[in-house]
Amino acid sequence: GDFASEVDLVVIGSGPGGYVAAIRAAQLGQKVIVVEKDKVGGACLNVGCIPSKALIEAGHHVAASKAPGLFGVTNENTTIDFSATQAWKDNDVVGHLTKGVAGLLKKNGVEVISGEAHFVDASTLRVIFDDVYGQSYSFKHCIIATGSRPVVLPVAPLSERVLDSTGVLNLPEIPERLIIVGGGYIGMELAGAYADLGSQVTVLEGLDRVLAAFEDDLVAPVLRQAKKRGIEIITGATLTATAVDGDHVRATYETADGEHTIEADYLGVCVGRVPNTDELGLEMAGLSTTERGLIEVDEQCRTAVPQIFAIGDITPGLPLAHKASYEAKVAAAAIAGDRAVAADYLAIPAVCYTSPEIATVGMTAAEATEAGFEVKKSKFPLGGNGRALSLSEAVGFVRLVTDKDTSRLLGAQVVGPNASELIGELGLAVENLLSADDIVATIHAHPTLTESIMDAAEAALGHAIHQ
Ligand code: FAD
Repeated sequence: GDFASEVDLVVIGSGPGGYVAAIRAAQLGQKVIVVEKDKVGGACLNVGCIPSKALIEAGHHVAASKAPGLFGVTNENTTIDFSATQAWKDNDVVGHLTKGVAGLLKKNGVEVISGEAHFVDASTLRVIFDDVYGQSYSFKHCIIATGSRPVVLPVAPLSERVLDSTGVLNLPEIPERLIIVGGGYIGMELAGAYADLGSQVTVLEGLDRVLAAFEDDLVAPVLRQAKKRGIEIITGATLTATAVDGDHVRATYETADGEHTIEADYLGVCVGRVPNTDELGLEMAGLSTTERGLIEVDEQCRTAVPQIFAIGDITPGLPLAHKASYEAKVAAAAIAGDRAVAADYLAIPAVCYTSPEIATVGMTAAEATEAGFEVKKSKFPLGGNGRALSLSEAVGFVRLVTDKDTSRLLGAQVVGPNASELIGELGLAVENLLSADDIVATIHAHPTLTESIMDAAEAALGHAIHQ
């Protein structure tokens, strides 16, 4: 139609930023529509967090059943029907969740419009569906939550053999040989998943170390495990060419000692993501981006145009699902009239689902020192934790970064089994300015991995029991 429908709030994108913003705004009394050009759930549910964790878990089961004599169990005939694995991932995990999100939106009275949104001006959007100009919407407020997409390298045009992270997640078979370009968390997670499933994996990383976002000693146990699992990691390697030859791909890369070529069944490019801000017509709304394509926002996630907000991967900060969802709630509250709400990233966690997992929250020791704290570091090795031993995964450690005087927890780093779950308690403590004393005053169930947090806190106070 030619005239614009009027709504209180238009949310562009239905990822963990957009769908959470829409639901919260509806709960706060707004009339909300969500515009989604692809699948409800965004990158996170469809091609990111969730399907990657499903494949990683499937890999753990294969690897555990193949590990000779683990728990005294020997399984001589482990087989995997990978199409069944993929069907489970797609239907029982991803499909189940995306249907759930669609149901939640509906339950909260949020209308989902299929199509691609473009700004016409600072208070109007037009939605295009199948290349046909559709409805215009005039809004009181808009939240942009369009997320990001994988970087495509000019030397590695996508094909049936050269894939981005989405393609790697959806492989039709377990490759005999797989090359992953990029040793960030996405590349290392996918490398681990396929290594466990039985592929021979090579990771090419341009920097001199993989998982460069994490401190060296957190990555060391992951490197040891990667070696054990036969993952070859080549650092300081720049991909210079790819050539697809039938059902193989040849990759040429350069290191300090010259040019090399390797071959594999598939090559996955995992070298970062670009924000989806280039095709929104932002300039029509009077908005611009940083050089990297990010939209700058204030502490309520408000852009330079007061009625337009931006959240998630398209704003500065960690491009993670929980950051998007957190900002979603801040923006929705601000739009509904909460003047005091402000985003606070003090205790934002980051998790990497490698073997073992890495998880961090709050400040590193270096960051805390930089911030002017007198820092105490205390570490408890999971080798001393009964539950970790009983899981046959007694690797890694919990480290607390506390303020020397008050024992306030400033940050924590964990590498080990279920680090992703352990970081929850630590985040609660950092966010609420709790101290090592508060942690040791909390009775931790035995035997659990969480006792290692209590042990590290005892160490922070100078009276470790198990160390
Ligand atoms: P997205 O989830 O990207 O959603 C944006 C949505 O907007 C998309 O559905 C898109 O189709 C839609 N859209 C874009 N433009 C338009 C338009 N013009 N009109 C209409 N709709 C539009 N994060 C974690 O926290 N933990 C993890 O373990 C994790 N693992 C990951 C693994 C992989 C393989 C990948 C790729 C990512 C992973 N991430 C993880 C990152 C996480 O997926 C993102 O941080 C998160 O999805 C960002 O949420 P978002 O709402 O900002 O955007």
